[in-house]
Amino acid sequence: MSSFQYRGNRLYAEDVQIQEIADSVGTPCYIYSQTDIEQRWREFDTGFGSHPHLVCYAVKANSNLAILNLLARLGSGFDIVSIGELERVLAAGGDARKVVFSGVGKTESEIKRALEVDIYCFNVESETELYRIEKISSDMGKKAPISLRVNPDVSANTHPYIATGLEENKFGVPIDSASALFQYAAESPSLEIKGVDCHIGSQLVEMSPYLDALDRILALVDQLYTQDIELSHIDMGGGVGICYQSESTIPPQTFSAALTQKIKDSKLKILIEPGRAVVGNAGILLTRVEYLKKTPKKNFAIVDAAMNDLIRPSLYQAWQAVNPELVRTDEPIEYDVVGPVCETGDFLALNRHLSIRENDLLAIGGAGAYGFVMSSNYNSRPRAAEILVLENQYQIVRERENIQSLFANERTASFEIRSKKDSL
Ligand SMILES: *Cc1c(COP(=O)(O)O)cnc(C)c1O
Repeated sequence: MSSFQYRGNRLYAEDVQIQEIADSVGTPCYIYSQTDIEQRWREFDTGFGSHPHLVCYAVKANSNLAILNLLARLGSGFDIVSIGELERVLAAGGDARKVVFSGVGKTESEIKRALEVDIYCFNVESETELYRIEKISSDMGKKAPISLRVNPDVSANTHPYIATGLEENKFGVPIDSASALFQYAAESPSLEIKGVDCHIGSQLVEMSPYLDALDRILALVDQLYTQDIELSHIDMGGGVGICYQSESTIPPQTFSAALTQKIKDSKLKILIEPGRAVVGNAGILLTRVEYLKKTPKKNFAIVDAAMNDLIRPSLYQAWQAVNPELVRTDEPIEYDVVGPVCETGDFLALNRHLSIRENDLLAIGGAGAYGFVMSSNYNSRPRAAEILVLENQYQIVRERENIQSLFANERTASFEIRSKKDSL
């Protein structure tokens, strides 16, 4: 159950009344529930039972230090896609030896740094990346731990909702060419084969594509075995969906247990990289209604959060819940909930029936993942504060940005203004 619940007619985050946070911290702000994050992570973890496994939280979903620190203390591993994410994990007390490094564009300096701190493995996405890692680790006198990301090519017809994820050729190597690359890696003195990985899409709500992908990967593992190549793990990636509106989703424990069921007789360790499913529904974006604006065609609730704070609705037409902090008995009216940014696409929700008045607070649901991390300073808006709640306490885990910080890294140039004639 979510920790964001009504008590009487007021909304709470765990045992903290949300109005209290708004009064002291201001709006907009992100509020996360520690209890929910712990629970979700543990559900993934316990589903594996005693089978060797590692849950590597996908840092890109929410990279706040407090959340990474919480997960590190739970024993989590981390899936990173940049050196910035690696440094965050280390700063938060995460263990480098539980880090897998994904992403198609790893630069030389990123690879060097990851080798320096001895990450668990690189999830290699292409042949040329494998050669680059080999060269750098050889120069450093090291052996780079690697996994190959394969594209298991799970039938897009069977699962049309993930079609884009599967036709992508930016990610991974075709599964048919994997064994030759593994052979190459096995013969290299600077590479150490750890495993094989895949990531078949995001916001997936069915188990079958994962099981199909695992079947194909297990066939590859058998093939490699005949080449005398033994892997120590299979990494099934992330992508487990969450309920934003009314989607029925895969319970984390069921997810882990179903994967385990398929490989329980092997010694292969299993890794997963969930992001959204750990933090997505553990967070809200809290915003205040500035104006209610009625026009002949539409009613607008103009709020103090905008697309720069939460871009999912504008970017993907994503539906996210809008829950008033105070439940009123007024007759509901249909509103578009929009921000102050000068773009027609700046909305958080469309056509919602709400009983609200100016100055009321609204909680945008499902905002714990791909919320703050995708925020920007567009329209010179300082980014929102982030708050972590546990039981009846809350702490600010990222201060609201101030105006000075908006242009602290900028400077005016010293070029002369040219005469009007020269500049034509
Ligand atoms: C984005 C991503 C994840 C996490 O995806 P979620 O949908 O947030 O679970 C995991 N692994 C890789 C390689 C990714 O790119």
